[in-house]
Formats: sequence, structure tokens, C-alpha cells
Amino acid sequence: MSIAALAARSRDDWHAAARRAQDAVESRLYIDGRFVDAADGGRFDTVNPATGECIAAVALATAGDVDRAVAAARRAYADGRWTGLAPRARMEILYRFADLIDTHAERLALLDTLDMGKPVADMLAIDLPACIETIRFMAEYVDKMEGSVTNTERDVMHFVLREPLGVVGAISPWNYPLLMAVWKIAPALAAGNTVVLKPAEQAPLSCLRLAELFSEAGGPDGVLNVVNGPGEITGEALALHDDVDKITFTGSTAVGKRILQYAGQSNMKKVSLECGGKSPQLFLGDLPDLDRAVSAAINGIYANMGEVCNAGSRLLVDRAIHDEFVARFVERGRTAYVCGDPLDPETNLGPLVTAGDQRRVLGMIDDGRKAGAKLEFGGDAPDLPGAYVNPTLFTGVANDMAIAREEIFGPVAAVIPFDGPDEAVRIANDTIYGLTAGIWSSDLNRAMRLVREVQAGVIWVNTFDEGDMTQPFGGYKQSGNARDKCIDSVLSYTQTKSAWIRLS
Ligand code: NAD
Repeated sequence: MSIAALAARSRDDWHAAARRAQDAVESRLYIDGRFVDAADGGRFDTVNPATGECIAAVALATAGDVDRAVAAARRAYADGRWTGLAPRARMEILYRFADLIDTHAERLALLDTLDMGKPVADMLAIDLPACIETIRFMAEYVDKMEGSVTNTERDVMHFVLREPLGVVGAISPWNYPLLMAVWKIAPALAAGNTVVLKPAEQAPLSCLRLAELFSEAGGPDGVLNVVNGPGEITGEALALHDDVDKITFTGSTAVGKRILQYAGQSNMKKVSLECGGKSPQLFLGDLPDLDRAVSAAINGIYANMGEVCNAGSRLLVDRAIHDEFVARFVERGRTAYVCGDPLDPETNLGPLVTAGDQRRVLGMIDDGRKAGAKLEFGGDAPDLPGAYVNPTLFTGVANDMAIAREEIFGPVAAVIPFDGPDEAVRIANDTIYGLTAGIWSSDLNRAMRLVREVQAGVIWVNTFDEGDMTQPFGGYKQSGNARDKCIDSVLSYTQTKSAWIRLS
């Protein structure tokens, strides 16, 4: 059933569909175009955080299984069954792949909602359309990728070929299980590589279906493989593998640093990293529309339960408008997002991904209280069985408190007052992260100066968290070294080869 056809679904419809999906769930590894068990038969449970119930016992890939998957990807790369296709034939397969995601939207939406608690309405409105758009955008570029002939002396012909890298290992997080995987595999496949994908162990199911759909679209066996398991076992085996040419990673900064070490310990594979953030929004005293700014602040931190790498978790507010900003945020923010059943299409706030994350986030909220920040609302869990945390707002936060420095990855906002733009920039940049930032001002000259001074890979002015596929997405500093989405992303899965030909 397509995304459009699912819009009218009721909560009961979704629950009935969820029961069917759970009965039919595929939990094995996907290697060389078919589902297989892990060699040693190992399994791990994936749990629905809204209910605490186990959805499935998923095959756990150890180093031997990763070897099998990498070998299948290497064979598929070496014999040219994918790379050697005419570019338009590769495009057609990717377009069909995108279409099949739409056709199979019900199952895909349910798998992520059950696995990590994301409201099913968000899957239909955000994640799945973005997956489709990403694959189509990357497919459009397949036959546009060019090398070049350079200007040399007459007796030399010098051309630069653009070639794929080979086997790409993709390691993805759980907060947008399908979309973050697609941001990796779509450009890698478009560039002609073969892929071994290791999804996050908290949400391992949807990517298995994704790989199956790639095969149904005509993707040759072995071109897209999926191995599930914990990061320290399956992820580490993939990142240390000597026959993997690149690791493309999205996840925490701490694990990103380990991925760099694995590359150094093994074959010096290329590494691209999309890591954590602690994004500031700078609300200057002259901002154009306080209501719009407050709405962007509320959505920027509570959407997707705050489990967003670029969540606007630090709200830097000019003292000139501070009290009015906080008053409006408190009035609307405490009710804008309400915890509920993620299978109810009316719900806009699901549980956190695991009960452990719920404990961790509530612990950080406690730290904020003890450090002297003022809790305006939230700070607790609702009376529901799952791993929920209510939307939370702290004011009176100092930028050296843990709630202002560490990525909470939950629905927790921290308001930090400032006096004037220079202090705002100093606070904004006083972090190890540099993923995104928002700047709010009606003075375009001032906003332009701040765009240059704030250290972040993506900056929004008088808006937050919007964009399209042309927009490079990635961070400065310890937020990573890569850019997803844009044309640069496809090119990062290629390498150039220079051929210098002496003609006489
Ligand atoms: P994580 O770092 O715990 O895990 C990410 C992936 O790495 C998972 O697949 C995990 O199994 C794997 N992994 C863990 N340890 C590993 C190891 N030792 N070797 C190899 N692989 C290992 O992150 P998470 O909790 O899944 O995701 C949340 C994090 O992701 C947040 O920090 C968030 O900011 C970040 N994120 C960043 C972006 C971005 O575009 N910059 C997007 C989404 C999420």
C-alpha cells in the first residue's frame, strides 16, 4: 500500500497491520541476494520500546558472517554485474527501488515504528518520502558523473576517470533507521559500489526489507547485503575488515573516533563520519516574528522525541526578549507534543528507543536540576508502560552545565540567556560539536556576519531544520567529516584515476 493510500488509516487499522507485520517479520541476515542464518546460529532480541515486548530474535552476525557478506559484495563488484551496467540500466533499477519503497510503505513504516517507537505518522510524512527522494536524486546523477580531459602539452593526452571505490561498509544509527541507511546506500550504489550495511541493533528489521526490495527492483545478488548485530561485534568486524574500501558511518562522536582507529589498524580504508551535535539556535533581540521563532524552537527539539542529531537543544536567547520567549515557549511547548501510542496516527511523541535511554535521559534531567537550572515543565515520564519521557524545558542554563554540553538525545531543551550577538556566537561555538545552527534576526547584515562566525556545517536563518536534496548535510569539528544528501555525497563514494598518455 502506497504512502498516499495509508493517510486515512485509523489506530485500529495500524494495530491490525502491526500484528500481521510482526507475524511475517524476517529476521535473518541478507547476503548475496537471499536470507541466511548466522553461521553460529546466534540471535539477539529487538524490543518494541512502546510496550517492552520482544518483536523478534534477530540473527546476530559475527566476524565469519561479515566475511561472507564482504566476500559476496567483493564478487559482485569484481565481476561488474553492477558497476559494469550501462549507467541508465543502473538508474532504472534505482528508480524501481524508490517506487517499491512507496508500494511497500505500510510494512516499512511499521517496522521502524515497532522497532524504535517513532510515530507512524512521522514515517509517512517524513522518513519514507525522504528515502524515496534520496534514491531518486542519487539515481538522477548516475549518468551525469563525468571525468575530465585536462589541458596539457600537445603530445600528451591526460584524462581523469571517476571510478567507484569498491566495497563500501555502511554503519547506521537507529533514530531514522531507514533514512540514515538510505543516505549511505543510495549514493554508494549510484556511484557503482557494492555495499554491506550494518544497521543499528536497536532497529535492525526495516533494512532487511529494504535490501529485499532492492533485489525485487532488479538489483543483482550481492550488491546490497545486510548484517545485523551489536556495534562491538558486527560493526567492529566490518570496520576492521581488510577487504572493505570505505566505511561510511552515522552515529555518535565516541564511536566515530573508534571507526577512525579501526581504519588505521586495518587497511587504511576511507572513512566518512556523520556524528553527534548540540545545535544552538541564536534568537537575537531583533528577530522578525517571535511566535514563528518559538514554534521553530519547540519543533526543533521535540520532533522525533529529540532523538535527532541536529536537534536544536541549546536555545540561546537575547535577554531583551528572554522573558517573553520563555513565556510563549512554556505556554505552547508543554502541550505541543504529547506522549502516546506510536501506532495512533494522532500521536506526535513516541517512546525513546530503549528503557535504558529513558533512564539515561531522566538521569541527565536530574543532573540539570542539581546543577541549578530551572525546570519549567516536564522532567518526568508519563504514566504509560513504554520508555517515554515528557517534553522538558530548562531555563537559567549555563553553557558549562552537562545539559548544555552533552548530547542528551531526548526531548530536553535548555535556554541560555545572552547579551548581544558577540556573546551569542561565543556561547554557540563553545562546544566540541558543529553540526547545525539557527540564527534569528531581522537584520540581514548581522545575520550574514553570524553565518560566517558560527562554526557549523549547516546554518538556517529565520527558520530551522528545512532543506532539500541539494543541501550538503554534515558537521564541523567533532560532528564529523562528511556531507550527506548533496552531489558531494555521491562523489565521496568515488575516486579519480589519472591517465597520462605520452603520444610520441
Ligand atoms: P552509536 O554511535 O551508538 O551507533 C551507531 C552505529 O554504530 C550502530 O549501528 C552501532 O551498532 C554501531 N557501533 C557501535 N559501536 C561500534 C563499534 N565499536 N564499531 C563499529 N560500529 C559500532 O549511535 P546511535 O545511538 O545508534 O545513534 C545516535 C547518534 O547518531 C547520535 O550521536 C546522533 O547525533 C548521531 N547521528 C548523527 C547524524 C548525522 O547526520 N550527523 C544523523 C543521525 C544520528
